[in-house]
Amino acid sequence: MKTRLFLILFLMNLNMVNAQKNPLLGEFKTPHQTAPFAEIKSEHFLPAFKEAINQGEAEVKAVIENAAEPTFENTIAALDRTGKLLNRTAGIFFNLINAETNDELQKIAQEVSPMLTKYQNDITLNPVLFARIKSVYDKKEELNLNAEDETLLENTYLTFVRQGANLSEADKEKFREISTELAKLTLTFGENVLKETNSYEMHVTDKSRLGGLPESALEAAAAKAKGKKKEGWVFDVTMPSYLPFMKYAEDRELRKELYLAYASKSFKEDELDNQDNVKRIVNLRLEMGKLLGYNNYADYVLERRMAMNPDGVYKLLNDLYDASFPVAQKEKEEVTTFARELGFSDEIMPWDWTYYSERLKVEKFNLDDEMLKPYFELDKVVDGVFGLATELFGITFRPNKNIPVYHEEVVPYDVYDENGHFLSVLYTDFHPRPGKQGGAWMNDFKGQWKENGTDSRPHITIVMNFTRPTETKPALLTFTEVETFMHEFGHALHGMLANSTYSSLSGTNVYRDFVELPSQIMENWAVEKEFLDRFATHYQTGEKIPVELVEKIKASQNYLAGYLSVRQLSFGYLDMAWHTLEKPFQGEVKQFEETAWRKTQIFPVINKACMSTQFGHLFAGGYAAGYYGYKWAEVLDADAFSLFKEKGLFNKEVAASFRKNILEKGGTEHPMILYKRFRGQEPNVDALLERSGMK
Ligand SMILES: [Zn+2]
Repeated sequence: MKTRLFLILFLMNLNMVNAQKNPLLGEFKTPHQTAPFAEIKSEHFLPAFKEAINQGEAEVKAVIENAAEPTFENTIAALDRTGKLLNRTAGIFFNLINAETNDELQKIAQEVSPMLTKYQNDITLNPVLFARIKSVYDKKEELNLNAEDETLLENTYLTFVRQGANLSEADKEKFREISTELAKLTLTFGENVLKETNSYEMHVTDKSRLGGLPESALEAAAAKAKGKKKEGWVFDVTMPSYLPFMKYAEDRELRKELYLAYASKSFKEDELDNQDNVKRIVNLRLEMGKLLGYNNYADYVLERRMAMNPDGVYKLLNDLYDASFPVAQKEKEEVTTFARELGFSDEIMPWDWTYYSERLKVEKFNLDDEMLKPYFELDKVVDGVFGLATELFGITFRPNKNIPVYHEEVVPYDVYDENGHFLSVLYTDFHPRPGKQGGAWMNDFKGQWKENGTDSRPHITIVMNFTRPTETKPALLTFTEVETFMHEFGHALHGMLANSTYSSLSGTNVYRDFVELPSQIMENWAVEKEFLDRFATHYQTGEKIPVELVEKIKASQNYLAGYLSVRQLSFGYLDMAWHTLEKPFQGEVKQFEETAWRKTQIFPVINKACMSTQFGHLFAGGYAAGYYGYKWAEVLDADAFSLFKEKGLFNKEVAASFRKNILEKGGTEHPMILYKRFRGQEPNVDALLERSGMK
């Protein structure tokens, strides 16, 4: 008796020591069990990941080896609940990798990534587990599941099936071969484009040829030349160098040279040429789609999208095309007329377009960041954005200094719902630092789920790279930064208001072409005077932002709306053309592209240029059969916001319906069903056309 007690005490001690040693493994004794950053050190992560993976594997094993008949509860729901420690550890780790990284964390990431891939693969490729899932799925009609349970069952089953779980052994092998080859080819594709980008330079030694370029562009080009131990100026085809050159350089020959270098990447019949890679990638994707029982690759991808199938995508593209193309042609005429006035007599070519349209833009709008920044003091913008959430949804924000943070600039908030109940933790992290990635994003440290009658609330973060305060001025944001803040805050609302049972269906865990609705809709308020008047006052005089400025912002946002729309549509058409092929492709890449683009062509065809051979979104990234998503999201946010425009910008009923039907629902039901419940109908392009001045 005594010995046993001793043994138990000994084991308890061991656990305590272990937890003390590694704060990532124990219970978090912080407010809302937030990550205990003060105690976490880099060296804690690797052992924590190993332990968390072991635990996760044991939990999955328990699901697989359950002696009872497979049921929804003991298989589907149980699987969703596995891996909590791993999720918690990964949540902290990957947020730090993005927001406050160092060499040590980067090294750990290299080591951890394959471990996580293996963990995932061991689950989705396990035949016994799939057999259990399938047996539940096959009797789903009899189970009488609610909508969320049904979605979880469908998602779980399809995750396995779409990885080939239903195939014969021979076809499984084929599937693995195709996947492996695709992974290699897409990697090579991207490497070729990168090498082409890095190998090109345009060296200029005669300063008289650089007229029109702003000082900043000249300085950067001179620094680049110096770095290569060269005289003069070096330009290349990376965006920060290329774009200012095309916008401002007066020398047409040099613009043409740089444009052709840019547009002909990996299309030169040399060892970095991607034409064969494009052909092999589209053919392998087609083969994969067919193997899994689809007519083409787009059918396979779009099955898990709000657009549902190629017809859904083409409807959107065509509706927008019909409205945009005539506008684009008018814009081309306007820019051409303007160029004529400046003495240009040739035909406008792609290398002239950016230059003349930019000059016209300056003449028309005369709007720059410095004019707007005094009205967007960061602290007031925070009040404005939080205040909008309070007005729409009744939620409130209180800073909580007791929540640990990973950097002193991070501000943690307790967020409460309209009844004063705790809703979420929100961290804000606004300014650039050496250890922070560029850009802006929302993420969670911890998701939301319900278990055993408890609603476990989320920990959300928004991270930006905004202008810092100076000794004499507070942090003043550009208008783009204000929009970025609104955008990420919209994602944060999706996370904070989540109200699901299963974490894999909660918050932003939705189809990819639906996830930008909550974020983009928020940007609409940013150009509404009624909203801006609440916080956009001059930081020195307190004067409200003038109505003319707001009108100018709107008008300049719509500048070249037709052209830009047609350009995005052309990429969408090209993507769909490649991925709706139903027979292996044997033609010429350039010719195929020209055919796909014929109706969107605004400028003469340039024989040396090819988009497909450098289109990383499609052939090196995850946007195959998904490029339309950019336009889809715009259609959705404009269509959804038009209801607020109609009923009132701060209308509580519309807001409540948006919350109940969209923000709280995450991915628990098909997005089209959720959207129709909010909007009363399917989305259409009218509101977007109206907003962009095309209707
Ligand atoms: Zn976004």
